[in-house]
Amino acid sequence: MTDAGENRIDQIVARHRGDGSRLVQILREVMAVRGWIPPSTLTELAQALGLPYAHIAGVASFYSFFATEPRGRFRVLFSDNITDEMAGSRELRVRMLDAFHLQLNEVSHDGLVSVGTTSCTGLCDQGPALLVNGVPIARLTPARIGAICSLIRGGSPVELWPENLRRIDSHVRRGDMLFETPLAPGDAIAAAAARGAAATLEEVSASGLRGRGGAGFSTGSKWKACAAAPGPERYVVCNADEGEPGTFKDRELLVHRADLVIEGMTVAALAIGACQGFIYLRGEYPFLIAPLEQLFAERRSKNLLGRDIRGIRGFDFDIELHVGAGAYVCGEESALIESLEGRRGIPRNRPPYPVTHGYKNKPTIVNNVESLAAAALVARHGAAWFRSVGTAKSSGTKVLSVSGDVARPGTYEYPFGVSVQQVLGDAGAAEAQAVQVGGPSGMLLAPHEFGRRIAFEDVPSAGAFMVFGASRDMLAAIDNFTRFFAHEACGFCTPCRVGTTLNAQMMARIVAGKGSRRDMKDLGRVSALMKATSHCGLGTTAGNPVVDALSKFRPAFEARLPSLAVLPTFDLDEALAPAREATARDDAEAHFLEDPQ
Ligand code: SF4
Repeated sequence: MTDAGENRIDQIVARHRGDGSRLVQILREVMAVRGWIPPSTLTELAQALGLPYAHIAGVASFYSFFATEPRGRFRVLFSDNITDEMAGSRELRVRMLDAFHLQLNEVSHDGLVSVGTTSCTGLCDQGPALLVNGVPIARLTPARIGAICSLIRGGSPVELWPENLRRIDSHVRRGDMLFETPLAPGDAIAAAAARGAAATLEEVSASGLRGRGGAGFSTGSKWKACAAAPGPERYVVCNADEGEPGTFKDRELLVHRADLVIEGMTVAALAIGACQGFIYLRGEYPFLIAPLEQLFAERRSKNLLGRDIRGIRGFDFDIELHVGAGAYVCGEESALIESLEGRRGIPRNRPPYPVTHGYKNKPTIVNNVESLAAAALVARHGAAWFRSVGTAKSSGTKVLSVSGDVARPGTYEYPFGVSVQQVLGDAGAAEAQAVQVGGPSGMLLAPHEFGRRIAFEDVPSAGAFMVFGASRDMLAAIDNFTRFFAHEACGFCTPCRVGTTLNAQMMARIVAGKGSRRDMKDLGRVSALMKATSHCGLGTTAGNPVVDALSKFRPAFEARLPSLAVLPTFDLDEALAPAREATARDDAEAHFLEDPQ
């Protein structure tokens, strides 16, 4: 790694047009060149971009892929997603730490290597996985760990490591509408143009298409609200930042149907009158950057991006790629927009919503990868065709990322309404004791619920489908989820910042056999408090796995307590006293008093 020539800070900033809104992209390049971001570099960046030092430092410290302290020249980050842990990632991590005589997060004395952890890498169908200087490596085994250690000692850049080591596999096990319907480039745009913008908005509404990122909001309503917002400038953002542990279906859609997704973005642009689009790509998917850039170029050469698209006078639209830097909260649409503008990914106060005040405060739609692919097909084949698949309230299909204790992990696309049991059967799950649908923020289902259906009216899902076999320790899984939320909370609001940490601490005590009934009760109370008072969806859903597990796997909790009569290990109400003092609150809601019941 060198910081001369084109890698000088002024050159990096110049490549990004000196545009401070590209700060996250600039910092990614700095990390790639220097391995960390020292204070002197923050100063250089502040001067080159004309931004306050505190702003640059704040952004650099927010994203987990950036380091403001020295790291090894080879920065290894093991995924600590639960399915990777189930597949042995902890043992492999210890093996590598032992090989380099390191502790976790320690830098070797020669500065060569550091080993840490990261949240899910989006490779749960081929885990365990890790990142080396941001490059993902999957299908880890003791032999592959040995090979990685040798390559690190040899010092060759990870980009030059054997292809077999860096290969990302594809496991689309079942396709339906999105994976199987052919679409010639430009056909959906032509159909939308023939119909007209207003009629296209109506067609998307009539299709019943709902957002596939989790919230399930009507895509047609979102597009209409944006189209109706005042002002000439509008934006289309494709949210490809799937950070929910256990979710990797957007990765597969972008591998196999990226053209369909871009077609959907272009249809959206035509319908709402946008001139610029962004794909916000998950930072863990660097292998998709070159193919996407190539696709943009191909579509420009075919007049499917750029000026006067398909000869439609005045229809100008192009797309820019923005790569994330390891912040789960950026999956929330307003946090994603903050990140697009070069800031920390802190969710905005809503309203106003992005459809009226989004990117650069202009009307913006943010749609999931899967939603945009579906929108392209709606434009081409019509609402009735789309509605002919699925259920009354959930039209079309759902793509699921199936991982965990199954014989055939991978991506499965089903018409909405498919039963959990059928997915388990197709994926080869034997004796499942639980399924976490929709990732840690979703629903934990016990066997008596396996007849339930994947649909907005029953079990909604952003895509993750994590299977736990009969021998798994469910408390370890919930412990993993609470640690994930505590790590990913952005820190903006107190209920989530404090609540996720408290939940993680209480779960750790219970898993270690040191918990109490008070911990069990407080887990429920803290989760309810977070749901009621948190600023964004991360906090409102962070308690879901705890609440589900307490109601469906209660005997497992009680069996882990040293005694059902044991006293609490500390007084939670007393622990919150400094927070009450800092916020000048002493009302009943600010206390955690023991329920007299
Ligand atoms: Fe940040 Fe959590 Fe509050 Fe959302 S709920 S703003 S992630 S602290």
